[in-house]
Amino acid sequence: MTGATARDDARYDYVLVGGGLQNGLIALALLARDPGARVLLVEQGEALGGNHTWSFHEGTIPAAMLGVLARLTEHRWPRYRVRFPGVARVVEHPYATVSSERFHAVVSEAFAAAPNARLQLATRALEVGAEHAVLEGGERVTGVVVVDARGPDAGALPAETGFQKFVGLEVELADDLADPGTAELIDATVPQRGGFRFVYTLPFGPRRALVEDTVFANEPDLDEAGMRAAVLAYCERRGMRVTAILREEKGVLPMPWRPTTAMRATPPLVAGYQGGWFHPATGYSVPVAARLAAFVAERPPGAVFGADLAALVREQEEQARFGYLLNELLFKATAPEKRFGVFEHFYEHPDELILRFYGLELTAADKRRMFLRRPPPGVSFLKAARVLPGWLLGRR
Ligand SMILES: Cc1cc2nc3c(=O)[nH]c(=O)nc-3n(C[C@H](O)[C@H](O)[C@H](O)COP(=O)(O)OP(=O)(O)OC[C@H]3O[C@@H](n4cnc5c(N)ncnc54)[C@H](O)[C@@H]3O)c2cc1C
Repeated sequence: MTGATARDDARYDYVLVGGGLQNGLIALALLARDPGARVLLVEQGEALGGNHTWSFHEGTIPAAMLGVLARLTEHRWPRYRVRFPGVARVVEHPYATVSSERFHAVVSEAFAAAPNARLQLATRALEVGAEHAVLEGGERVTGVVVVDARGPDAGALPAETGFQKFVGLEVELADDLADPGTAELIDATVPQRGGFRFVYTLPFGPRRALVEDTVFANEPDLDEAGMRAAVLAYCERRGMRVTAILREEKGVLPMPWRPTTAMRATPPLVAGYQGGWFHPATGYSVPVAARLAAFVAERPPGAVFGADLAALVREQEEQARFGYLLNELLFKATAPEKRFGVFEHFYEHPDELILRFYGLELTAADKRRMFLRRPPPGVSFLKAARVLPGWLLGRR
């Protein structure tokens, strides 16, 4: 525990349950605005942020949160590249990465420097209510605002979902990378087995990179050994001579086509992945979590719930609905080996539309453009015809 010690009344302005991405961003935004804020952050693990590498497109971050994200950023590239069999392009948008270790260090420091803030690690919240939480050991804490962001594992796995699966190796290389200033988000020129498959390469230094094999598949099983071998074979093919494997990460992220729970604008604030504050079609949570963090931090605690939050929830629901539609079309109406074509087609759109897509800020014109002007190739018209009417009529 750092910062202020538990007080007898254990009353706070903000009780943040779950020390992951969402509540870390809220805490940093609150303490940046008011270092005297009375904030409690409760995390069940020994450290904040689990074992993640969170990447994001800088242009998707609200202006009010750029300072917070800059403190968290470990690596940044001014541009990124994508490669498909028929399209290769560089997009001049900055891209950045936050590691769990840095996240833990920055959030912990912010709490240590704040006189009225308390960081409670290794403590599970047993109960979370509108204005209170009960912690392991029996302590009861109250907050004007309680934020419940216990993450994807806190909810049930969506019944209808595809999966984004990956195995990544952080590798040390014998030679300098050809272009360490450009992140490579997608190289889909690799064999398309079991779904849309691509390799993701983030240069972490002249001779260090994170190389990840990724597949968008209908089944959640992770072929760890096969994907690890695929990463090493890819490095060899691209002329990257691996001298050491420094770290490994793996994951399976649901890509559902129905929300698991209804979003809510009433206390407690159910936030982060658990509350629907994420991008269903990309798995990127940073922009949406940052938007909610800015919203919470820019008003007094007594004014968080109300018409403005209800409007923000509606906006997120509407944007997410389009993401769910894309997932349903991808996983139900497009043959696994043709899925890459949907993404290849997407990267033919203008840079600004691409950025709005990642930021979950698409306009109605963007949505029309993505579908109507030139529908993505590979999508079965017959299968799509079963999905689209319900979506257009607002029934999903
Ligand atoms: C494989 C994979 C790759 C991803 N890549 C990206 C990416 O590049 N960019 C991006 O933006 N997003 C990415 N995401 C998504 C992102 O990691 C999550 O959506 C995001 O972390 C959700 O934030 P959160 O705060 O809701 O949950 P989490 O970050 O999971 O945090 C929840 C926290 O709550 C804690 N907790 C749970 N229950 C309790 C309890 N009872 N008491 C106390 N604490 C509790 C957990 O220990 C955890 O630390 C990825 C996800 C996966 C699986």
